[in-house]
Amino acid sequence: MATKGRVLIIGATGFMGRFMAEASLAAAHPTYLLVRLPLIPSKATIVKTFQDKGAIVIQGVMNDKEFMQKILKEYQIDVVISTVGGAHGLLDQLTLVEAMKSVNTIKRFLPSEFGHDVDRADPVEPGLAMYKEKRLVRRVIEESGIPYTYICCNSIASWPYYNNCHPSQLPPPLDQMHIYGDGTVKAYFVDGFDIGKFTMKLVDDARALNKVVHFRPSSNYYSMNELASLWENKVGRKIPRVTISEDDLLALAAENCIPESIVASITHDIFIKGCQVNYNIDGVHDIEIGTLYPDKTFRSLEDCFEDFVTMIVEKIHKGENEVYGTKSLVEAVPITASC
Ligand code: NDP
Repeated sequence: MATKGRVLIIGATGFMGRFMAEASLAAAHPTYLLVRLPLIPSKATIVKTFQDKGAIVIQGVMNDKEFMQKILKEYQIDVVISTVGGAHGLLDQLTLVEAMKSVNTIKRFLPSEFGHDVDRADPVEPGLAMYKEKRLVRRVIEESGIPYTYICCNSIASWPYYNNCHPSQLPPPLDQMHIYGDGTVKAYFVDGFDIGKFTMKLVDDARALNKVVHFRPSSNYYSMNELASLWENKVGRKIPRVTISEDDLLALAAENCIPESIVASITHDIFIKGCQVNYNIDGVHDIEIGTLYPDKTFRSLEDCFEDFVTMIVEKIHKGENEVYGTKSLVEAVPITASC
């Protein structure tokens, strides 16, 4: 059997990077993690978990061209996946691109995208500034001739809080649900582990070479109103719905509080302007992932929400009543037989 490509993941201590590292190891790729020092204890624990599963840890930063050239050669890296944060560090990738261009051995680069198609979506500031950086990175990659794949996985499966960059770390609300606009605009919600798993399928799939790959699982296509009903069914009770209007989201974005205002501007783009669904996939430069792997299914949003119920129940059992930092919320949750 052919040896799997050597994968270097930059950002494995971060939110999206963990899914990539997990999936790369699960797919039996020789997996290398570029890790910045110093490591806070929680991140050191994550790194240790990956090392125990076979990952090789390299200490350093990607914005050091000579260092990156050295490690790309020394470890004979085939695939580079970058998951640097959206609010900071995206332009550090420009040095990485220079390093990859000079070694000229990289078979695929996946830059830090993992959201919307930044050439199509057009959020207000400060989300726009982030998208401009991602667009610039795209243009520099294309100019360099490095083989690439851009992953547009849309929203992560969770309640889309308008002020939280990593919403899947929190269960959906129990006190009141914020509905953006009239709650009818739809979006795609993809489980983080599926983002990792399908990304790893793409890294050596020739059909994804120099393409934008869109994750649009039809089973996970929900409006805010539908999402709210799904959560109410899971917890077995009605939860008050409060409208967050377009003006509210724009006002939050205009506060320019980073990263919360970036999330507010992107929330506006998704649930008011419909940025995930207001264009067709052309099939030439863009591919929908379902057309590549028609026999593979995505984890349903219903199952993902079941995990959040389990998360809440576990916290109650551990006596951690402050799931949201508000004691009364969890005390009030009746978990029904359907949960
Ligand atoms: P995080 O901030 O959680 O993690 C960023 C990682 O990159 C950290 O491990 C950080 O290291 C590392 N890093 C940053 N700069 C460097 C550097 N110069 N050299 C080496 N390592 C570096 O980022 P996210 O996971 O939130 O974001 C990753 C991507 O995913 C972004 O493009 C973002 O837009 C997207 N995203 C998409 C979501 C969705 O719902 N679709 C949700 C969240 C993010 P350290 O630990 O030292 O800080």
